[in-house]
Parts: sequence; structure tokens; C-alpha cells
Amino acid sequence: MSKALSRIALGIVAALGIVALIFWLSPAALERAYSFAQQDNDALPPVEIAQGVYWIGASDVASYAIDTGDGLIVIDGGYAETAPQVLVNLHTLGFEPRDVRILLNTHAHFDHAAGLAAIKAATGAELYASPADAVLLRAGGRGDFFLRDFFRYAPVEVDRELRDGETVTLGSVTLTAHFTPGHTKGCTSWTFPVTMRDGSVKQALIICSLSTLSYRLVDNPDYPNIAADYARTYETLNALPCDVFLGAHGRWFDLPARRAAVAAGNANAFVAPEECRAFLAESQRAFEAELARQERASVQR
Ligand SMILES: [Zn+2]
Repeated sequence: MSKALSRIALGIVAALGIVALIFWLSPAALERAYSFAQQDNDALPPVEIAQGVYWIGASDVASYAIDTGDGLIVIDGGYAETAPQVLVNLHTLGFEPRDVRILLNTHAHFDHAAGLAAIKAATGAELYASPADAVLLRAGGRGDFFLRDFFRYAPVEVDRELRDGETVTLGSVTLTAHFTPGHTKGCTSWTFPVTMRDGSVKQALIICSLSTLSYRLVDNPDYPNIAADYARTYETLNALPCDVFLGAHGRWFDLPARRAAVAAGNANAFVAPEECRAFLAESQRAFEAELARQERASVQR
């Protein structure tokens, strides 16, 4: 065999090996490999964001607990392997699993939804979600327009499907669901008022996700209106208050620095309206640049 041919043969064997490895890996192994690569699932103690509002997630993948005075609302379950950490963090805060009454979700990707089934089983809470992401949650992540069936997780029943702008009230707390599709078709961001330690009231925003991964934004047969959805999502988010800057990943708002600031006695460590606006502006700039690049490429085809 010539040198060039043997290099091609080697390439084919390597490609087949990678494909075989992907199919051989169980969803749990795939998830573990992904979270190991991302370094986002290390167990850490809970952090108080505002009075009765806590980060109970891992080092980077979010889970939030809100004490409403009439039970807890928990938003996001992380990976399957984050769920036990979430329950430990609730215990650390002095809560029992049965105190959790309502589960919410930013979006139905495996790193934010795989833990929901175990948390739902442990707590008996009801899960509310957008109709579009409820489809994915019930299918255990199967059928995502981009991830397909690769990152599967335990299917979880959705007890109530929300409408855009609908409010969820428990005890003294009311959250508003804002549909911010694009990253998933049912991506949901959340706003709610929070009371800080000094008694001041601020508006919190939990951003679903604005990442476009390597999405096809132009002529996408699996999501034809994806670019229009992202554009409308930016209109929605840019119009929302964001005193307390939160989201599905801690790195967006530099969670390690805020965790350290809380430990150093700063009770307003998560109050960051300028950083929130800057994050939205930078994400929008990146989205618009990527859309323009894909539009140019599609004209040239
Ligand atoms: Zn995602």
C-alpha cells in the first residue's frame, strides 16, 4: 500500500473506532465523560443568594432552591449524578426532600434535566415545564433537534405545561416563566423578586441558555424558525429586569468569585445588573456574528 493509501486506511479505522466507542458507551458513561471534560459537576456546599434563595447545584451546573414559606421550589436537576448532591445540599440547609413541592426546569438538556427524575421521586414534587421541552423531558432527552438521541436520561413526567408569561406561585413567592427558545425549543428563563439580607428587594433573572453550540441557524430542517426564535429571545431578555444575575451555568456569572464573596461576608454578591447586561450583549453579538457568517456561506453555496 502506498503511504497516502495507508494513511487513508488508518483514518477510516480511527473514525470507525470513534463511532463504535460512541455506540458502546452507555448514556451514563457518555454523560460522565462529558461532565468530566466540562469540569462542571464537582460537589460543593450550597450558597445563599438572597433570603431563602440558594444555589444547591454542583460547581457549575445549576440547581436553585427557593424557600417560599409554604415549601420549596427547585429549579433544574443537573446531571443524573448531580441529583444526590442537590439532596445533600437541601439537607445541609435544613430541609427535608418532602419540603420540595414544585420542580421547574430551564431546559431539557441532559446537564440540566437528567437529575429531575431522581429528585422528583425523592421529593414527590410536581414538575412544571414548557410544552416544547415537556416533550423532551417525557422522552428522556430523546429527539432533541441537535443532540438527537445521544444524551439520554431517565424520562420524567411533566405534571403541568406552562404558557409563556405564566406565573407559578407557592407561599409568598411568585415566579414568571419567560419562553426564550433557540437553545432548545422550550428553553425557559425565570424572573422573581428576592429580598436581600439588608431588606432591599431586587429582581432575579435565571437565564435559560443562549449558547448556539454548532447549531445550523440557516435553513435548518429540524428547526426552521431557529434564528427568529433567538432574535425574539434577545428582545425578551433585554426587556427583563436583572438585578440578581443567575443562569443554568455558574460560569456565566463567575460563580466561584461570588461564592468566595459570600464566604467573605458580602450578602449582595449576586447583585450584578451590569454584568448581566454585558453577558446578554456579548451573547447577542456572538449570535448575530454567527448568523451573518452562516448567511454569507449559504449565499455562496
Ligand atoms: Zn443546553
